[in-house]
Amino acid sequence: MTLFTHPEFDDHAEVAFCRDPESGLRAIIAIHNLNRGPALGGCRMWSYAGEEEALTDALRLSRGMTYKSALAGLPYGGGKSVIIGDPKTAKSEELFRAMGRFVESLGGRYIIAEDVGIGVPDIDIIAQETKHVSGASAGGVGDPSPGTAYGVYVGIRAAVKYKLGRDDLKGLTVAVQGLGHVGRYLCRRLAGAGAALIVTDIDRNAVDAVVDELGAKAVAPEEIYGADADVYAPCALGATIDDRTIKVLRAPIVAGAANNQLAEPRHGAELLRRGVLYAPDYVINAGGVIVISHEGPRYDKAEAFAHIAGIHDTLLEIFRRADATGAPTSEAADRLAEERFKGPGLTASAAA
Ligand code: NAD
Repeated sequence: MTLFTHPEFDDHAEVAFCRDPESGLRAIIAIHNLNRGPALGGCRMWSYAGEEEALTDALRLSRGMTYKSALAGLPYGGGKSVIIGDPKTAKSEELFRAMGRFVESLGGRYIIAEDVGIGVPDIDIIAQETKHVSGASAGGVGDPSPGTAYGVYVGIRAAVKYKLGRDDLKGLTVAVQGLGHVGRYLCRRLAGAGAALIVTDIDRNAVDAVVDELGAKAVAPEEIYGADADVYAPCALGATIDDRTIKVLRAPIVAGAANNQLAEPRHGAELLRRGVLYAPDYVINAGGVIVISHEGPRYDKAEAFAHIAGIHDTLLEIFRRADATGAPTSEAADRLAEERFKGPGLTASAAA
């Protein structure tokens, strides 16, 4: 396996390969950039096909965190960790303790939090081994998903305003892919605002719960792309916008929680060519990390959610910049983020 020549390497500051034979832990901690502060980012647990796939995911996700924190105006760099293993069968106290020791050994350069496959109970175990933790139940804000869902909700409203010239969601249809932590909260907000829902998940129980609670229409996982909707909200895993799905996509807006929604950067340009407005993933899904950044003894939920509401105007600025330059929104977002994390005076030593 190569690192420095890896297509996703992008000058990562540090990548740690973590192996603990006793617990069976195999993990990768990727730190992309430390210019704005320590690298804050979630830990994902997934049954990766192999180390290559896990490394690619860690590198892409950590880079995304640098851009996300910069555009959310947070004093953090970007990092992410992945644990190779099935979250349904491979969890143990020893495994998370070992992970916590690896995080501690990085001396605060990486701050761990939840992501797909990792919940508050897991973070609580990790917190017994390291203080560089966010989202633990003691002293933390707990599950950040309601914050993420709120950010996606205000982001959908910004996209609807820009693309459809509408100030509300009444009578519009949103196709939500993935009804996990974020997807479920998002569906509640959308239904509360008068939107109709078309939903899917590979977990039948998750679908039934949303259909029963909100009267959503369920479709099979493959059918979500071609759903007759105003917004496609990807809230499952990444890379769902690819050559195949882009051709069947009917919604004029893509705005959802998933990280790394574009299979490749060129798909941002392809969405633009087809007249689809894309709300860049790391901008619209920053609500969780914003909540986490407000963590502390004086946590004020109203203040944190007011900060998240700023995603609305950040997206409008990106949409306008993209239009003004003819660039895809994904590129306009990258340029704006880079202004904020590569700007003058931002160096690793200044942030230390
Ligand atoms: P989750 O694991 O709770 O939910 C994901 C859901 O997607 C699950 O119900 C799963 O069954 C479903 N799913 C997986 N593959 C699918 C497929 N092919 N088709 C349909 N459904 C499928 O995860 P989550 O915390 O809700 O996060 C969802 C996405 O948002 C992830 O990409 C995550 O990285 C991103 N995200 C989450 C947060 C957060 O606060 N939780 C913050 C930022 C970004």
